[in-house]
Amino acid sequence: MPESNHRKVIIIGSGPAGLTAALYAARANLSPLILEGSQPGGQLTITTEVENYPGFPDGVMGPELMDLFRKQAQKFGAESLFKEVTQVDFSKRPFRVAADDTEYFGETIIIATGASAKLLNIPTESEFMGYGVSACATCDGFFFKNQHVVVVGGGDTAMEEATFLSKFASKVSIVHRRHELRASKIMQEKANKNPKIEFIWDSVVDEVLGKNENGKKSLTGVRLKNLKTGTVSDFKADGLFLAIGHQPNTKIFKGKLDMNEVGYLKVLAGSTRTNIPGVFAAGDVADPVYRQAVTAAGTGCMAAIDAERFLEGHE
Ligand code: NAP
Repeated sequence: MPESNHRKVIIIGSGPAGLTAALYAARANLSPLILEGSQPGGQLTITTEVENYPGFPDGVMGPELMDLFRKQAQKFGAESLFKEVTQVDFSKRPFRVAADDTEYFGETIIIATGASAKLLNIPTESEFMGYGVSACATCDGFFFKNQHVVVVGGGDTAMEEATFLSKFASKVSIVHRRHELRASKIMQEKANKNPKIEFIWDSVVDEVLGKNENGKKSLTGVRLKNLKTGTVSDFKADGLFLAIGHQPNTKIFKGKLDMNEVGYLKVLAGSTRTNIPGVFAAGDVADPVYRQAVTAAGTGCMAAIDAERFLEGHE
């Protein structure tokens, strides 16, 4: 095995957790290898302005923040590979990780694979994904200039996406399944004050309505169901943005690491230790509660320190 494929620390994932783990592991002289995955920089690379990351009183753009994270880790010797891990074997040390037909071996592993946007899982949703249906306002908002869009969800993501979309769209209708928002007060206020944003309460999107003319698909609206009255109605719109939360990216760890009932990795309280000694988890992948960039960075730091101490104890 080439020496470069055998590392003291391999980090899977490259959001705030992965890149902070890389920074700390690099500064501990552990020459970490980061397998960055399909979305280098993680979820912040598909957001616009981040206003709650400490140290940036004027806000910072998500992609820029993640570039700074990466640069800082690389400055101390962390190595990034833009590869997606497809298989892991944690049955013995060194642990084996396969990415793009290459095998890597780690004395320790830090998992920081984050979470991805949830979908409604209605059949028409996948048919119109990319043709009016999107889970990323920052990526696709621009295409809805002067159009009417629907945002589903009642959390911070929904408020943030709706506010962002109001810069392009003529009108934004937020469809929420209850009459009470889950979003933080400040984000609620921002959305409430915005004249382009309206709320449709106690309702869900039951179906995506669209047309397919000579192979050209486009969205024409959504079928809404009021959960209180049971009334079903067709609602005209040009776009549908899903903002209903996230699911942890843990498919490749199924059956290999302990998880909770919805797939978040379990770690020992107050640490980043999974049920396999030498395998650590940081960031959203193991955090169903806080899921903030700053908490992810914090647990990334913890994971690197946990890995360093584990290596010290096993040398
Ligand atoms: P979230 O807080 O879990 O909210 C998801 C929303 O979608 C909830 O309102 C939920 O309704 C609704 N929902 C879930 N499944 C649904 C379904 N199948 N159909 C219809 N509605 C559904 O997720 P999030 O908004 O993505 O936020 C996640 C975390 O990131 C939070 O901790 C949040 O504070 C943080 N965040 C922070 C910022 C920021 O500070 N700038 C921005 C974005 C996210 P119910 O309310 O009825 O459950």
